[in-house]
Amino acid sequence: MNQRQRCPLCGGLVKPDQEVERVVRERDDVAIVRVRADVCADCGEALLHPGMADRIVAAKAALRRGIQAGAVVGRVFDLRASIQPS
Ligand SMILES: [Zn+2]
Repeated sequence: MNQRQRCPLCGGLVKPDQEVERVVRERDDVAIVRVRADVCADCGEALLHPGMADRIVAAKAALRRGIQAGAVVGRVFDLRASIQPS
């Protein structure tokens, strides 16, 4: 029997080798990247596989350089001025 991995945060069972999306932000630019991770079925914590953090760093670097490396999807609405924290 395989010993299933447990979440380091909550102790829940971890679903191995999932594909998850990460939203990467650099100033006001945002990119979506796919990474592989083991994901906790209880709290949703994603434990990134080796090398996946490099994808996130690369995406931030691409945004910083102003490169449009992929399709433009969706819109971003700036509600910072109109919706205030209470
Ligand atoms: Zn968890």
